[in-house]
Amino acid sequence: MYSRFEALSNFGEEELRKLKDSKAAIIGLGATGSVIAEHLARHGIELLVVDRDYLEMNDLYSSNIYTPEDCENSLPKALAAKNYLEEFTEVQAEIESLNPENTGLLRDVDLIIDGTDNMETRFLINEFSKKNNIPWIYTSVLGEKGYSMFFNDNCFSCIFEKLNAGSLDTCEVSGVLRETSTISASITAQKAVKYLSGKEVSEKLDTTDGQSFEVEKPGCEVCRGEDYPHLNSERKTVAVCGENKYQLEKELSQEAFEKVKSQGEVVSENKYVLRVKIDDRSIALFSSGRVILEAKDRGHAESLLSEIVGV
Ligand SMILES: [Zn+2]
Repeated sequence: MYSRFEALSNFGEEELRKLKDSKAAIIGLGATGSVIAEHLARHGIELLVVDRDYLEMNDLYSSNIYTPEDCENSLPKALAAKNYLEEFTEVQAEIESLNPENTGLLRDVDLIIDGTDNMETRFLINEFSKKNNIPWIYTSVLGEKGYSMFFNDNCFSCIFEKLNAGSLDTCEVSGVLRETSTISASITAQKAVKYLSGKEVSEKLDTTDGQSFEVEKPGCEVCRGEDYPHLNSERKTVAVCGENKYQLEKELSQEAFEKVKSQGEVVSENKYVLRVKIDDRSIALFSSGRVILEAKDRGHAESLLSEIVGV
């Protein structure tokens, strides 16, 4: 099965064994994360996959691992990914938003991979990584360009904390070609396979058009181990990339679920998530205690939810 791979001169028995003994976490299973997950699973690398969202038909465009049925049924991405990937390897799925309270999930992995679309989570991963000495790989796509960078000695906060984070995570402004995200994901997967098989990985910022940049590390409170502001912060209302959707952490009663159902049209319902359309506005209630709804901004999302469920 792996003969072609083994035929590569610097990959032998030893490297294959290391891959099979390793575990990687993939945070976010959209256009980049799902592709990375498939690459790694086919190497037999054990996976922890974490994603907060459910599937919609447009996810068929950007990923190879989801089926039309998964999307029609609004399956959570983490669960649909597990169903597909466990043909190849052991997979633990978490239908969760990575937040300061659940980063402990990542404690026993050898490598963390960013498949998210937001800076907040990347800062959180970077701080967890620095604090626990677990390297991670940043992956992103903006317009026609994709980026990948391995962080072991380097520090994401040193590079990005000073930039305006809001300007860097807006995938709704410019559409993303699946080809660009696939290339970006493959560059990241290649770095992951090299690292997990014991090879040296450079810490340059690589782009999908073949450029490679050396990045400076001036030093900051995170890499000096003085403070972890994102890791120590409260959970927040976060924007979900793409369609003016916001996520709220809210434990809702069965009564509230019924109340939401009675006010609109049920789009789909399974034991993980209930999706309802109310006045053309989409609302998804997760049984794990989260809500994702369409709104203009964070405040609007909060007031809409209390309007709908009456709390
Ligand atoms: Zn730093």
